[in-house]
Amino acid sequence: MYPSALAEGMRPKKPSRGLIRDPPKRVSLEEARAQLARSLSMLMTDTQVQAWTRLQCEVAVEQPNIHRDQLINSFADLDTVLFNDTLAGRVKVIWKDMIILEDRMIGAQCHPAAISRHGVTKCKIWLNHIILNMDDGADVWGTLIHEMLHAYLDLHTGLFGMFRSHHGDAFRQSCAKIAERLNLPGVGWENMSA
Ligand SMILES: [Zn+2]
Repeated sequence: MYPSALAEGMRPKKPSRGLIRDPPKRVSLEEARAQLARSLSMLMTDTQVQAWTRLQCEVAVEQPNIHRDQLINSFADLDTVLFNDTLAGRVKVIWKDMIILEDRMIGAQCHPAAISRHGVTKCKIWLNHIILNMDDGADVWGTLIHEMLHAYLDLHTGLFGMFRSHHGDAFRQSCAKIAERLNLPGVGWENMSA
């Protein structure tokens, strides 16, 4: 009776996004940054515009009202707008309090969660509740984006940025391109590169 619906129903299902994914092609750190810069300079797709529109509402929430679930829930939209969904299924964001490194409490960290012989295949971003005490909401968002950039670089190079060789002028330049792409009020590269 409804041949088109039947045909639709009989199509083999595509695997759900983010479930089965090969690791991204491994490139040098410089090339990973260059690829990111190229993708950030391209026109947004409709899906990216929709994600960006949702982010506008999330980022408009002022401190001290940013909720921890907001960051987890917005991760996918940030990934869509900034990293072309390359973190989906490969990066998990969790709240984990009391991260201590050399007796210091730190706000956030990106760790490898799975490593194959080709290098890092999955990452975990730990967020410490102390970031919710930041006065400026842009710093809260910037902290998450900073770690997402580490994850992007880890996954594309296969190398864990353990020694944070990611940081420096080139990292700041990537943050500037991200801020330009985001184009959200008050969120600048300074909020991401601290
Ligand atoms: Zn860092």
